[in-house]
Amino acid sequence: AYDVLIVGGGPAGAAAAIYAARKGIRTGVVAERFGGQVLDTLAIENFISVKETEGPQFATALEQHVKAYDVDIMNVQRAEALVPGDKLIEVKLANGGVLKGKTVILSTGARWRNVNVPGEQEYKNKGVAYCPHCDGPLFKGKRVSVIGGGNSGVEAAIDLAGIVAHVTLIEFAAELKADAVLVRKLKSLPNVTIVTSAQTTEITGDGQRVNGISYKERDTGEVKHVELEGVFVQIGLVPNTEWLKGTLALSKHGEIEIDARGQTSIPGVFAAGDVTTVPFKQIVIAVGAGATAALSAFDHLIRSSAD
Ligand code: FAD
Repeated sequence: AYDVLIVGGGPAGAAAAIYAARKGIRTGVVAERFGGQVLDTLAIENFISVKETEGPQFATALEQHVKAYDVDIMNVQRAEALVPGDKLIEVKLANGGVLKGKTVILSTGARWRNVNVPGEQEYKNKGVAYCPHCDGPLFKGKRVSVIGGGNSGVEAAIDLAGIVAHVTLIEFAAELKADAVLVRKLKSLPNVTIVTSAQTTEITGDGQRVNGISYKERDTGEVKHVELEGVFVQIGLVPNTEWLKGTLALSKHGEIEIDARGQTSIPGVFAAGDVTTVPFKQIVIAVGAGATAALSAFDHLIRSSAD
């Protein structure tokens, strides 16, 4: 059995692996796709001390750093169930295998919900973006649209309005669903247009980059087109916890509930990164959380080995 078994090989899992291995304890990482979301990222400009890099390059660096230590990396393996036990916690894999850990760190991350309209996949990273903290500055002085009028969409629109030339917020429902204070703030901004009762139908481009967005007015059926350079899809970030439902405490959004030490509702099981209730989902935050979870797991091990 592993002393620390980590499920998920993104920035959080990689950091947890390095911190655990540096304690000289048996460490394993099982991941569906080692690297995680950064594999789908182009420019990364906010990982402190690295002025500029690209996602796949960052993922390679993560893997090389982990491989510098004695860590078992089990890539392209999906975990399907977590089975807590008295001494050992089991992780069941889709291939039928079972891994065991004295402690487990869950770092399975999250995924952005797609709008699933023509142009979205084609122009991902070519004008279609999901993370305003990450990609907002790339659209400085340009025109963008935000799809989604919930809290994250309205927060994104307010944030972007301070950077870009103009923001068109498109909401499917008749009213914005965000908190009133955010909606008031958004409505006070001069460079924001709010469109409600509108269904996004297409993200258009010139073959290279996004050049506009089309939406259908749900009241009239009329299709409108807005010329712009960027589209931020803000209709939800879904934590990868489907496989954990019923085993440990999840928030109403499906995120793993953790305390300041990364402890979940099951003793010996810790969690880190985008999969948790941590308020902001960023690489630098996930990495810090991975370190916290590994140190907490180590602390748990030295306390429980005394009995
Ligand atoms: P993830 O990176 O999501 O990694 C999750 C890991 O778990 C993966 O290895 C995955 O394969 C694995 N996994 C999932 N389910 C299972 C399972 N059942 N069994 C086994 N393994 C599983 N952040 C920034 O700070 N700066 C940026 O510029 C930036 N740009 C971004 C651009 C895009 C397009 C996207 C999508 C995200 C961006 N982010 C950025 C956010 C950043 O990528 C995440 O905050 C970060 O990757 C979270 O790390 P994580 O380790 O928690 O999860």
